[in-house]
Amino acid sequence: MKTSDLLYLADNFATPLYVYDANKIQFQYNKLKNAFSKIEYLRINYAVKALSNIAVLQFFKKMGANIDTVSIQEVLLGLHAGFEPHEIIFTPNGVSLEEIEEVALMGVQINIDNLSILEQFGTKHPSIPVCIRINPHVMAGGNQNISVGHIDSKFGISIYQIPHVLRIVENTKMTINGIHMHTGSDILDIEVFLYASEILFESAKQFKNLEFLDFGSGFKVPYKKGDIETNIEELGKKLTKRFLQFEKEYGKSLTLAFEPGKFLVSEAGFFLAKVNVVKQTTSTVFAGIDSGFNHLIRPMFYGAEHQIENLSNPKGKERFYTVVGYICETDTFANNRKINEIKEGDILCFKNAGAYCFSMSSNYNSRYKPAEVLWLDEKPLLIRTRENFDDLLKNQIML
Ligand SMILES: *Cc1c(COP(=O)(O)O)cnc(C)c1O
Repeated sequence: MKTSDLLYLADNFATPLYVYDANKIQFQYNKLKNAFSKIEYLRINYAVKALSNIAVLQFFKKMGANIDTVSIQEVLLGLHAGFEPHEIIFTPNGVSLEEIEEVALMGVQINIDNLSILEQFGTKHPSIPVCIRINPHVMAGGNQNISVGHIDSKFGISIYQIPHVLRIVENTKMTINGIHMHTGSDILDIEVFLYASEILFESAKQFKNLEFLDFGSGFKVPYKKGDIETNIEELGKKLTKRFLQFEKEYGKSLTLAFEPGKFLVSEAGFFLAKVNVVKQTTSTVFAGIDSGFNHLIRPMFYGAEHQIENLSNPKGKERFYTVVGYICETDTFANNRKINEIKEGDILCFKNAGAYCFSMSSNYNSRYKPAEVLWLDEKPLLIRTRENFDDLLKNQIML
């Protein structure tokens, strides 16, 4: 998006403001789709939790995506946005049997990641096919290390417990129609991902009624200079080859599924905030903005480095700033970061603000959540109004 467009939006919709570039979402979606164009049945399940605005979900629906959900509320949002139950997969962790049953009875594909619920579900509903989430115990280390990690991760059914899964299947007569993995780590090295995939294939061989293999996500996008993006084209080539070979061995066509969040929406997002105060101390220049970790928590929560640009003074001399929020505890977006000279009233733009930004926002310090705008066909569409005082009062009861 052009700087002038972003400034125009900050002016028209006020700050703080989230802006999403629909073109960029489409671009990323196409890139992934094209990388796997040789796969007959490819299913891209957008991970709703990254950015769950229903207009964004509608946009995904229009592009032909399906969705991946982690709560019954995300399922309801998906249905509301127009997805059919069969276009939704439910991949929760640690939720109750009741919630899983409720979602399954809507006709949504469920994915179970522990033996206890699998057995209870299979006993009660043997006719509803279930996908299982396995834990391949593969972690991408610093660079090339492939380590058998996290034997006690809370996610997935350990591959060492597959014999137990098979016993449950036999006893309950339930059907396993999909195998899934999502290691959660960034794919820096494609070989590590392929290594984990081998474990998925190996596990898959033991189930006779599969319809799909779900390779989860972990696609990485660059946040700062020097960061790499997962090489989707190379992954596409290598995994496609292996997948086609597996289909032959398995003796049946299967669907290949992915469930990216970050890859599809991260770079499409821009968070715009206004500088309230520039504060010079003896050693540091603080730029205090009209927002805080209530609106964008990734820098504080994960140490994420979002690039920050001063849209109001793009040619200004670069100086070092510590960009902070207005929350009454430490909320630092960036430490001693080189940014074009900042004056009070300037508009700062945070990059990579599409994924896990608005969706993790809160009302801490009793602030309103920002508005959201979708930039579609060179025009702004307001897709969420800024909150107001009524929103803060909603659901509260006076003495
Ligand atoms: C969060 C999540 C994703 C999306 O991960 P990204 O890193 O945003 O691509 C995919 N699958 C599951 C099960 C998840 O919990």
